[in-house]
Parts: sequence; structure tokens; C-alpha cells
Amino acid sequence: MWALVSNWKIMANQGGGAAVAQIPTSFGHELRACLRCRLVKTYDQFRDSGCENCPFFQMEEDHERVVDCTTPNFTGIISVMDPTRSWAARWLRIGRFVPGCYTLAVSEALPQTYRIFVKKSTCLTFHQNVFEWLVEYYSS
Ligand SMILES: [Zn+2]
Repeated sequence: MWALVSNWKIMANQGGGAAVAQIPTSFGHELRACLRCRLVKTYDQFRDSGCENCPFFQMEEDHERVVDCTTPNFTGIISVMDPTRSWAARWLRIGRFVPGCYTLAVSEALPQTYRIFVKKSTCLTFHQNVFEWLVEYYSS
């Protein structure tokens, strides 16, 4: 477990915050939404590069996880260019996620086995946000 979490931390540090999610290349029934962040991409895109907001699921390494962590059952799509400035993104609570296509609602919950990943990563994200805030505060 710790290996997974520290792995994620490295990936997050490399990301530099400038990431943009892949835009779905087709809008057929192969579209799926991430059960945690509601990012919408095609099955193939999730299989090839995972979810940009949830790298700790490591979907690109275990394709079963694409099926477990995403769902084809969702309603409505919104595309967000700048989640930090969009009131709609804040309202949908995706303001901290990367720009991309998101769904308004999914009708499934994340399986219990994957919730532990989310808990750990939320904790790390929180610490990282506080750290970034402090750096900003003291350097201005
Ligand atoms: Zn996600």
C-alpha cells in the first residue's frame, strides 16, 4: 500500500499541475465516467493512460480496474477549460481537477476495495495544498 501511495506522490510532483485530461474521441457507448472524479473518456483512453485525476487507481496497469473504477451509466456531460475559475465546476465539486470533460452525475458508487486509495490520496492532496498555500503566503 505504501509503495502505491509514494508512487502516486512522485507522479503528482512530476505533474506540475499543468495537466489536461484527454478529450473523448468518440461519443458512442464506449464512453465511461470515473467513479471518483467523474471524468469522461472512452474505455480505450482510460485503459491506455488511466484517469488524470486519480493516477492511484493505476488503470493503465490493470485493465480490470477500468471496469471497476469507471461506469458507462452516467447522465450529462460538461466540458471544463479552467476548473478553478468556473462556477459550474465549483458547484460540481470538480474545481480542483484537471480541465476535461466531466459528467454531471453517475449512478454507481466506487467499490469498497478502492475507497482506501481515495482516502490516502485525499489526505496527501490536502497536505500538498496546505504546503503550496504556505509557500505562496510566505513568498508574496
Ligand atoms: Zn478519476
